[in-house]
Amino acid sequence: MLFADVSVLDEHFAVKPHQWVAVQGGVITYVGDSDPRGAMAAGCGAATAPAEGDSPVTPPLGAAPATADFGEVVDGAGRLLMPALYNTHAHSPMTLLRGYAENLPLDRWLNEKCFPFEAKMTGDDCYWGTLLACAEMARFGVVSFSDMYYHADRSAQAVLESGMKANLSGALVAFEDKPFSDYPEYAFMEQLGNEWNGAADGRIRVDYNLHSEYLTNETVARDIVALAKEKGLRMHIHLSETAKEVEECRGRHGGMSPVAYFEAIGLFEVPTTAAHCVWVDEADMDILAQRGVFVANNPASNLKLGIGFAPIPRMFEKGVNVCLGSDGMASNNNHNLFHDMYLQAMVYKGATLDPTAVTPQQALRAATRTGALSQGRDDCGLVREGMRADLCLLDVTGPSWCPATDMACNLVYAGHGSDVVMTLCDGQVLYAQGNFPTIDLERAKAECAARTKRILGEL
Ligand SMILES: [Zn+2]
Repeated sequence: MLFADVSVLDEHFAVKPHQWVAVQGGVITYVGDSDPRGAMAAGCGAATAPAEGDSPVTPPLGAAPATADFGEVVDGAGRLLMPALYNTHAHSPMTLLRGYAENLPLDRWLNEKCFPFEAKMTGDDCYWGTLLACAEMARFGVVSFSDMYYHADRSAQAVLESGMKANLSGALVAFEDKPFSDYPEYAFMEQLGNEWNGAADGRIRVDYNLHSEYLTNETVARDIVALAKEKGLRMHIHLSETAKEVEECRGRHGGMSPVAYFEAIGLFEVPTTAAHCVWVDEADMDILAQRGVFVANNPASNLKLGIGFAPIPRMFEKGVNVCLGSDGMASNNNHNLFHDMYLQAMVYKGATLDPTAVTPQQALRAATRTGALSQGRDDCGLVREGMRADLCLLDVTGPSWCPATDMACNLVYAGHGSDVVMTLCDGQVLYAQGNFPTIDLERAKAECAARTKRILGEL
């Protein structure tokens, strides 16, 4: 595929007009300001200088544009091509809970609504909930998500079929003081890893997870950290989401915050994505920065559940890897990550009384490149030669996009997820102009509606 004369969000998160971008074999093979077919005719190569700031990526073999057939040519007039978005904290089967547990305090939301509903969910329910989540994410330019939920093997099947990418982990509540290997989740995770880690050409990955400090005892937490280290897998956790969680952790662990506690047991020696980090102090943020922890910021979920405001501007100042997540659909209620990006770029200005807090470029990087890195996908998240072709194309002819004085600002402050007209994952089209080539959306919607109705009838 060749995107012809298109505006591109470049690797510095600025918009460059009149670019040509070629995709071959799932990889971006050319980015430049001239038609590579012209270069072919002239017999010259089309390489551009390597970029600064990110680790180098090995160019794909045999993909030199000068000898290539580009296939479909997409007219770039009135279009903006950007890296696809990476949703770094989700519970995708929870699409079935959308609109079900509303306007309740956190404890009642969880104990009276979410837990009883989830206890009725089958593997098939989780498959269909994930498939609908995939369709919704693809619609809004998201190609990959980090998930933590029951029946993760069924989510893997949905991800495989949809053509998306995901880092999947199971669900675990561990109060009994016995080794992790005595829990049924141990065998489940072994099997999940054996069957699915690296599946579909690496689109599917398996992470280990600890739900949180408050739902996992120390014996099990230490065992899981050791397993992740031994297997070279990543970790996904909830961390310091509420003030109550931090206070109770300090009571249980000799005054240590959840961040200090997990540092003490060695968690952050493993590459970790930590969701929320709302109630963290300066010492906590220093640990997160030093250890290279990826903080999955979930601004919509934090607002909706009345959690508070994560110190995101301070984290950026300290060099913490901030990325972006939707969280589950009982606390957002959508997978349109453009919403979350807008909130990340806006709410912390209000929370800190500083209009310079969180720049559009920081928000764009969090939603794309940093998200890809949080999933261990070093060759994803930028429009650059040699990167995987995870892309979304936006229609920028609508009234919100004019004038084009600063298109990156328009993208964050005025654009909408619904401006996405095409989403590609590894070069495969997942969404184009209302169509979902890999997903039967009507079937997925009907299945999810019927399944939610059944569960509500059982409660
Ligand atoms: Zn969560």
